[in-house]
Amino acid sequence: MSQGEPLIIVVSGPGGVGKGTIVEALVKRDSQLWLSRSWTTRAQRQGEPDDAYRFVSRDAFEHHMAVGGFLEWTEFLGNYYGTPNPDATSGSDVVLEIEVDGAQQVKALRPDAILIFVLPPSRAEQERRLRGRGDADQKVAERLRKAEDEEPVGMSLADHVVVNDDLERTIDEMLEIIEWHRAADATQY
Ligand code: 5GP
Repeated sequence: MSQGEPLIIVVSGPGGVGKGTIVEALVKRDSQLWLSRSWTTRAQRQGEPDDAYRFVSRDAFEHHMAVGGFLEWTEFLGNYYGTPNPDATSGSDVVLEIEVDGAQQVKALRPDAILIFVLPPSRAEQERRLRGRGDADQKVAERLRKAEDEEPVGMSLADHVVVNDDLERTIDEMLEIIEWHRAADATQY
């Protein structure tokens, strides 16, 4: 466990950059990390695990919003996505895998949150990864367009920018960043 307050680590970046795979690997490799499970109104993709999100109706989402149940939420390409308020008692460092608008909200609420922005090695590789998930052409095009808007904002907000050109190297780099922040935190106490 970290010595100070648990860290909030926000992993953001455009669709198809590999954020999901990266955060899964981070929590597997570092037992002090806890991965927040978001709520979404998006339909579950074919082959997507049941626990990838808490898949809910718009009514259920809006109700949870109204009772202040989210740390942040946004509407992304027509669906709601939100981070439920993290359990403050767990003591683990919390990992959020969210898009740029949510990252901005978390930074405003918690300026000490660490924002790691992940970039694809190229647009062509990002497109290849998006297509690999089985999304329809129109969805892939929408996500690529969205990425053009998200990247400059994300990069200006980020504490660290990482290019996911090699998954293992990216994971190692992110674990080092997290360790560095833990050590920096520990020296403040
Ligand atoms: P996807 O539909 O590809 O699973 O997710 C679309 C985008 O929403 C991704 O950039 C993903 O990181 C982001 N996202 C997932 N969960 C949340 C959340 O709880 N809040 C916000 N703001 N974005 C989220």
